[in-house]
Amino acid sequence: RMSLASHYQDGSCAISFELFPPRTEKGMEALCENVRRLTQFMPAYFTCTYGAGGSSQGTTLEVLRKVREITGLPVASHLTCVGATAEDLEDYLAQATQTGVEYIVALRGDPPKGESAFKMTDGGFRYANELVEMIRSKFSNLGIAVAGYPEVHQEAVDAQTDLDNLKRKVDAGGDIIITQLFYDNADFYRFRDKCVAAGINVPIVPGILPVTNFAQADRIASMCKARIPNELREAMTESEDDKFQFEVGVQHARMQTADLLENDVPGIHYYVLNKSDAAEALLDGMQLGSA
Ligand code: FAD
Repeated sequence: RMSLASHYQDGSCAISFELFPPRTEKGMEALCENVRRLTQFMPAYFTCTYGAGGSSQGTTLEVLRKVREITGLPVASHLTCVGATAEDLEDYLAQATQTGVEYIVALRGDPPKGESAFKMTDGGFRYANELVEMIRSKFSNLGIAVAGYPEVHQEAVDAQTDLDNLKRKVDAGGDIIITQLFYDNADFYRFRDKCVAAGINVPIVPGILPVTNFAQADRIASMCKARIPNELREAMTESEDDKFQFEVGVQHARMQTADLLENDVPGIHYYVLNKSDAAEALLDGMQLGSA
């Protein structure tokens, strides 16, 4: 079995890039070109989201097949329990395996647009730990990442319960934790300390989004419940100019990256949103990846 954890064991900082399924043929072409460019940073693997923000679930595997073709690198498919029976999920995993997917980012998923709470599908799963368990028992060759929340999951009763639930996913077979994006590294360090205290000992990989304009940052912050620190808000809103906001956002992500490196993270997962320009500006000259 390919354990995802093996990418994080050599003392260097492994990087991974997260993509999403584009809506148009043009978007797919741009994605492919940007994936080519991102390969220069020697990522350990790429991932592609699944039905995120109500997007179609259909093309994740098509994206990953292309990424494998272009890069020759391992790929991870995100997968959620939304609208699926256990059988549907097994079919998807069989298809993913056939496509050459090595890893799964195993998630519960968010409620579909217009619904306020997650509803379990009949014959499906209620929580991500159940999906992890199924993958572990029926698709033992797949590596598994699970989601962690430095600022606590929005539905969680409290931080400790959320942590117990995270541990449940790891105990069920999660190889690594990838975190929700955050803008203040202090939130991540606190979370990491609590994980370790709770006996979680798999690699905890911070997720970083280089924000490139304030409207986007604001939208994503409310979607993911990621707090924008006042300094970043003030710096970014100083000017409406696109180029200015891009620079400020990238500079912030660069600062976060440098600080994470100093604090011995095993890797960093970048939410690149199918783009390469921000990642290129942010990673320029940084000693990351397997380079
Ligand atoms: P769970 O781990 O199931 O947790 C959901 C809530 O239930 C939490 O509040 C938790 O504390 C609680 N809980 C968990 N297990 C139990 C239990 N056994 N008993 C009682 N309570 C429990 N969404 C998409 O739609 N597509 C994607 O591709 C996608 N990719 C993502 C990638 C990353 C790295 C991250 C961090 C998130 C991603 N999301 C994606 C968003 C994710 O689907 C949502 O955050 C969702 O609300 C929770 O998913 P989860 O897997 O963390 O759920």
